[in-house]
Amino acid sequence: MIIIHQTSFLIDYIRKQKAKRVITGFVPTMGALHEGHINLINKCAALCHVTICSIFVNPTQFNDPADYKKYPDRLENDMRLLSATKADLLFVPPVSAIYPNGTTDLEQYDLGYLGNILEGKFRPGHFPGVSQVMTRLLNIVTPDYLFMGQKDYQQCMVVKKLLTYLPFPVKLVTCPTVREPDGLAMSSRNLRLSPDERAKAPLIYQTLLAIKEKMHPGNTGHLKHEAMETLAKGGFKVEYVEIADAGSLQPVSDWSGTTPLIALVAAFLGEVRLIDNMLLNS
Ligand code: AMP
Repeated sequence: MIIIHQTSFLIDYIRKQKAKRVITGFVPTMGALHEGHINLINKCAALCHVTICSIFVNPTQFNDPADYKKYPDRLENDMRLLSATKADLLFVPPVSAIYPNGTTDLEQYDLGYLGNILEGKFRPGHFPGVSQVMTRLLNIVTPDYLFMGQKDYQQCMVVKKLLTYLPFPVKLVTCPTVREPDGLAMSSRNLRLSPDERAKAPLIYQTLLAIKEKMHPGNTGHLKHEAMETLAKGGFKVEYVEIADAGSLQPVSDWSGTTPLIALVAAFLGEVRLIDNMLLNS
């Protein structure tokens, strides 16, 4: 696996690959890799000739500067994990390579409704930051395919919208959420949970499963409230539980029985913010 830090080297590598008319795939990450990330790499390697992974902890997408500072840095371990996969190239740019003119006055992207709900509402500045880094990375890598995880469902929808603004086609492949044996969605943030918090954390998955099992046509409000209560009793500080149209993320309070639905949760355990989601009728 080749490791590149400078944009010019990466652009040169990609130009040479494209001259061979190969299919390129891209897996952007913020590092502290786990099996969720490795699954994206494997899917990418199965579909593409060239698999490019990036590790970049993007400062502009953290609405909480303390969260940015505490983001786990495990580059040595990540490189070891990646070298056992079929990744061809790892791009690890410094902040100055992604934002050569600094991080203020960056471009703003119109995300419409998607930008202002759920994660957009509770993490102001998060999706503008995601949009800036994704647009920059995609313009550098210009992949044929982009691989992202359903774990960040709203982010996938945001990125799908961003892809329509690019001057070249990129196909988004959304891969299922990889979970720990007890159901907790794998996340780099799980490393920050204390043993007590880690023991409580699978309640998010159990709560999503309970919504799925109890979902019937008609009013969905009680399911949302039950879920919030369960999580609060289990030691979580809940930001949201939402049941929404899986295609638009518009809240669904009265379900027809046919619209594809998704339940989404964001909640804190101590200082660690966890998110998860589950498709309810697919
Ligand atoms: P991150 O490093 O957290 O920014 O995540 C990089 C990519 O990995 C994103 O597309 C995430 O949605 C995806 N990802 C993170 N955790 C998981 C997981 N448990 N299962 C599947 N994909 C994941």
